[in-house]
This record gives sequence, structure tokens and C-alpha cells, in this order.
Amino acid sequence: MTAIKEPSFRESVDLMFNRAASLMDLPPGLEEKIRVCNATYTVRFGVRLRGEIHTFTGYRSVHSEHMEPVKGGIRYAMAVNQDEVEALAALMTYKCALVETPFGGSKGGLRIDPRQYEEHELEQITRRFAYELAKRDLINPSQNVPAPDMGTGEREMAWMADQYARMNTTDINARASVTGKPLNAGGISGRVEATGRGIQYALREFFRHPEDVQKAGLSGKLDGKRIVVQGLGNVGYHAAKFLSEEDGSRIVGIIEWDGALYNPDGIDVESVRQWIVKHGGVSNYPDATHSAEGAEVLEAECDILIPAALEGVINLTNAERIKAPLIIEAANGPVTAGADEILRKKGTVIIPDMYANAGGVTVSYFEWVKNLSHIRFGRMQRRQEEARHELIVSELERLDRYLGDAWSMSPNFKAKYLRGADELELVRSGLDDTMRIAYQSMREVWHSRDDVEDLRTAAYIVAIDRVAKSYRAKGL
Ligand code: NAD
Repeated sequence: MTAIKEPSFRESVDLMFNRAASLMDLPPGLEEKIRVCNATYTVRFGVRLRGEIHTFTGYRSVHSEHMEPVKGGIRYAMAVNQDEVEALAALMTYKCALVETPFGGSKGGLRIDPRQYEEHELEQITRRFAYELAKRDLINPSQNVPAPDMGTGEREMAWMADQYARMNTTDINARASVTGKPLNAGGISGRVEATGRGIQYALREFFRHPEDVQKAGLSGKLDGKRIVVQGLGNVGYHAAKFLSEEDGSRIVGIIEWDGALYNPDGIDVESVRQWIVKHGGVSNYPDATHSAEGAEVLEAECDILIPAALEGVINLTNAERIKAPLIIEAANGPVTAGADEILRKKGTVIIPDMYANAGGVTVSYFEWVKNLSHIRFGRMQRRQEEARHELIVSELERLDRYLGDAWSMSPNFKAKYLRGADELELVRSGLDDTMRIAYQSMREVWHSRDDVEDLRTAAYIVAIDRVAKSYRAKGL
């Protein structure tokens, strides 16, 4: 018997796209125009380190320019290759359309293991990579705006934005060339947590619809739900932390590169994170069982599985054994097209990547707008809002005195009501709104069409339809 071949990541994305497109009525040719990747730039550059020249390979792929700038993260990992960046760029196009951020899709990557380099070496490498991209408008506030992804964070984004600014000294919008920057370099409050926060908001919205919860064979709310998370990096850590600390969910499994932790009574996310920071991995963490074969814990008994590390981890080899009735794809492409088919047949509900992890690009959009408007959100209206609230509170105080013992204001009402929203609150509110609306647009297609079996196909249909409309508006 010949083994069934697993498609590559890009082929997987295309297969999922084709499945949705076959249910749509697109004009001939437009389907292909939307699906294909417009261009991928490959650069090889040398950096002198430790007395010799090291050559690095990097990519920036532009999938669709139906809206500009195009947007997408830059990943630092040894597995980076053209197929991967093209798949990720395509997902960015659909993601931006689904959550209505006005961007086309792009993605970049550098083949490097960042753990092998000192900070000053990484800065040299990053600046050189940014120089190569900026020279070709592949970093540019109106053309192409990178953000963090696996292996990169605020620090790398600050170097890249600064590199662009040095090369474009008269560009007043230079800060808008990159998002995910630290606050003191033009970043926005809430960007670091955004993708994980988006996972929390996505799950909250899912659990607001009992019909959907029932489709996954679950009931009730997030409280008490057993969760397994793979990858305790930026996305996985924030998602697991918020869900356990704010929604009462129980993190029973944490899978990292050096094995997995399991404890049916729950694992303290913050203490595991501190352990990883100190020891580099989860091995020897005291308050859970450690297993060296981390990926096996993907198959553990739980209510919700959150793959938040790599692509392709749920594939033809293990899909049949996945027990979680609900999977939320925090990582990009964690479920291959073949596994998706198996899981769909089993009745597993999958909240797809293009929706689930869109919190990052949503808050990146807010950061880009903030940079272009050169003013912090809330700066103009916060005190004015407080002054108006003060008027109501003083009237209520008057009533309180008049009514005596018959009525009084609730203890914290005054302090809570008086406080005008700061940037972080506004960002969270904008993100929550975005995640709710995007979920509703997917579920409407999911529930209203008999030929749409799953949320992923629904998400693709919504996204492709929006991209098609943009192309049509351009006369294509
Ligand atoms: P990260 O580098 O901060 O974290 C990745 C984590 O996965 C690390 O803790 C790493 O040790 C762990 N890991 C590596 N190999 C593993 C393995 N074999 N098994 C288990 N764990 C492993 O990256 P991130 O930014 O959190 O991104 C994770 C995923 O989320 C990626 O697919 C990325 O594309 C996606 N994503 C990230 C963002 C963002 O804003 N950072 C936005 C959207 C999507």
C-alpha cells in the first residue's frame, strides 16, 4: 500500500481555498488571480560576525495587492522557505479580508536560529535584512508593513523601523513602516498580548452561541473547560494565561519543543513561563508530569486544543487520534488539509487560523493608524469624557443625599464610571468588536448554507468574496 502524501503547507492552503471557491460563483479567471501569490523576493546577504562572513537567506512574499499596503509578519526560524512564506502570505490576504483590516497579504522570513546569536549580532543581521527589504519598498508605510511572528518580537521590529527611518530621513510616517514596535518606539498598548487576547475573545464569542457549542459536543461556558496548548511563546502564553486567569478554564497540558507537561488538575501558566525563561524549556518543571514525546499530548483528553506553535502538527499521522472536540488554530496552518478532512468527518469543530489568530493584525492595524495620525488613542477625548461623567455622578450624589437610606450608589460605581478609557482599553474594545463581528460573518455562512460544513470553508467564502469585490471595484 502506498502512503498518502501530505501536501506542502502552500498546497494545503490552496486545497482549502479551492474547496471554498468551488462553492462560489466567481467569474472565470478571478479565482486563480486571487489564489496565486503575486511575487516572492528571495535575498541572500552576508554579515561579518565573529571574524568571518555569514550568509543568510531571507524572503518577503506579496500574495495580493488588492489593497495596499500589504501586511504580514516576519519569522525567524531554520525551517523558513519559499513554500512556507507564500502559504503564510496567502493566509494574511484572507485574514485581513475576514477581519476587515484594509491590507493585502504578505509575509517574510529569515532562515536563522536566533538562539545561536548574541543580541548585537541579531541587531546587525536584522538591520541588514531590513535594509535589503526597504531598498525594494518591501518595508514601507504605504506599500508593505511587517510585524512580529515566530522568533521575532518588539526588539526586532524596533530595529527594522529604525533602519527604515535612517534610510528615509524625510518620511514623516516612517514609524508606520513596521508594527509590533515597543511603546517608546511608536508601538501601541496591547500589541504584545493581542494575538493571545484575540484567541480569548474568539472563544468567548464561540461560547456565546449555544448551537455552535453543541456542534462540538460541548455545553456551558469557558469556565472549567480543560485546555491543552502547544507552544508557550507569545501567542500560546497569552491565550493560556487569559483563559485560565480570567475565564476559569483549566490548562491541563502544555507542549513545548523539549516535551510536554500534563496535569489533570491544572497547570499554573505563569509559573511555567517563568520556568521556561530561566531554564530554556519545560523539562524538570516540578508540578506536572513531563513526557519527552511532546506531540503525543496533542492527543490527550481535553475540551479545547490550542496549537500555538508550528504548522502541520495535526496531520495524516495523528488526526484520527485527536480527542479534543474543539480546536482553535492559534498558529498558522497547524492542521493540514488531509487532517482537516479527517477531523471534519469526526465532527471536530475547528475555529480556523485566519480568524482565530487575527488579533495580531487587528491591533497592528490600530498601531499603523496611530502612527499615521501621530497621536495616541484617547488623548483628545479622555478628560472630556471624564468631565461629562462627573456631571452625572454629582447629580446622582445629590439624589443619594436626598433619598437618604432608601437608595445609595454601589460602592465602586463612582470610580469606575468616572474613569475615561485609556489606549489599552480602547485597543481591547476595538479588538473584541472585531473578533465578534468576524465570527458572526463566518457563522452566518456556516449556518445558512447546507453545502458549507465547517467554519474554515465559511471563513474562506467570506474572505474570498470580499477580495473578489475589491478586484471588481478596480475593474478586474
Ligand atoms: P513564538 O516564537 O513567540 O513562540 C513559539 C513557541 O513555540 C515557543 O515557545 C517555542 O519554544 C515553541 N515551539 C517551538 N517548536 C516547538 C515544538 N516542536 N513543539 C512545541 N512547541 C514548540 O511565536 P509566536 O509569535 O507565539 O507564534 C506562534 C504561531 O502563531 C505561529 O504559527 C505564528 O505564525 C502565529 N501567529 C503569531 C502572531 C503574533 O502576533 N506573534 C500573530 C498571528 C499568528
